[in-house]
Amino acid sequence: MHGTKILTETDRLMTVCNSCRYCEGLCAVFPAMEMRRAFSDGDLNYLANLCHGCGACYTDCQFSPPHEFNVNVPKTLAIARAESYAAYAWPRAFAGMFARNGLVISLIAAASVAAFIFGFAAMNDRAVLTGVHTGPGAFYKLMPHNAMAALVGVAFLYAIVALAMSMRAFWRDIGEPIGMRTNAKALLQAIRDAGELRYLDGGGVGCFNEDDHPTDRRRIFHHLTFYGFALCFAATCVATLYHYLLAREAPYPWWDLPVVLGTLGGLGLLIGPIGLLAAKSKRDPVLTDEERTGMDAAFILMLFLTSLTGLALLLLRETAAMGPLLAIHIGVVFALFITMPYGKFVHGIYRFVALVRYARERQVMAGGE
Ligand code: SF4
Ligand code: SF4
Repeated sequence: MHGTKILTETDRLMTVCNSCRYCEGLCAVFPAMEMRRAFSDGDLNYLANLCHGCGACYTDCQFSPPHEFNVNVPKTLAIARAESYAAYAWPRAFAGMFARNGLVISLIAAASVAAFIFGFAAMNDRAVLTGVHTGPGAFYKLMPHNAMAALVGVAFLYAIVALAMSMRAFWRDIGEPIGMRTNAKALLQAIRDAGELRYLDGGGVGCFNEDDHPTDRRRIFHHLTFYGFALCFAATCVATLYHYLLAREAPYPWWDLPVVLGTLGGLGLLIGPIGLLAAKSKRDPVLTDEERTGMDAAFILMLFLTSLTGLALLLLRETAAMGPLLAIHIGVVFALFITMPYGKFVHGIYRFVALVRYARERQVMAGGE
């Protein structure tokens, strides 16, 4: 007996696949499945998050519909994966947010914070909002640096705590049969596999999207999005160190490290999300969890808006548009952080944890300690 219908269906498919084993070379899901004879809820959530949704095992399967076995591994694991996000959400009371329209929630949060900053600036000095400000400290004419950092920092810290608690619950639930321990070797292997998106390659041929011709398109756009996000995060960290350690105030010149990192990351975050959304709109519905495309799209759109508003601010920071653009950008960043633990962002966390578990299991099977 399993906790949900989709886990019962996942168990049925994994039992069929465990007898067949035709797809064992395609990705990590099938070898991990073969290490088990029976599947707990935690095992099934682990396998669901190990799946990268490349679609290869549907195209290759001799038991896919209209066969009476009705085997559709990518779709079933996609639904199980989405339900696992809510199952491990922290706090539990917010689990329902995964089912709501994330984009509306994100846009309302972004607009509220932008309006708050507008109001804050207007109450102090209305002219500041539309004035032209240049040189170090120009951004803080609108709102003092500490107030701005506190606003975004609170949202960021909340996201980190909520994500860490969810990650812990997931890790505990998928702990058996090898227990809770991991090691540096497994961690490094998982970082490599996640960094390359190794299992999004359909076993070497590419990812299936709208037809039977696999390509690397989804992997490339995924890379642009992920590394774009990482570069933007690095830009923010460097700027924070500049501010507190070197007493250097933003905005920085175009050649300075935070701007270079932010611009490169911003470009990745513009192109990657557009490519992912285009691929998603064309994707064969037989491979996807159609009911939750809103959750995916909301997160991708928020990443795109973060980049768009950030780059617009960079280009127009020496004009009268700087004040309104800064308020909107901070609003979008705040909304991105606050909704992160309840949207598609979590797939990266759970998938990484599943890859760590998989690397560790492989070591144990190979006779490592
Ligand atoms: S997906 Fe189909 S072909 Fe692949 S292992 Fe499962 S039953 Fe066999
Ligand atoms: S969709 Fe791709 S990653 Fe997922 S189980 Fe099938 S082959 Fe593996």
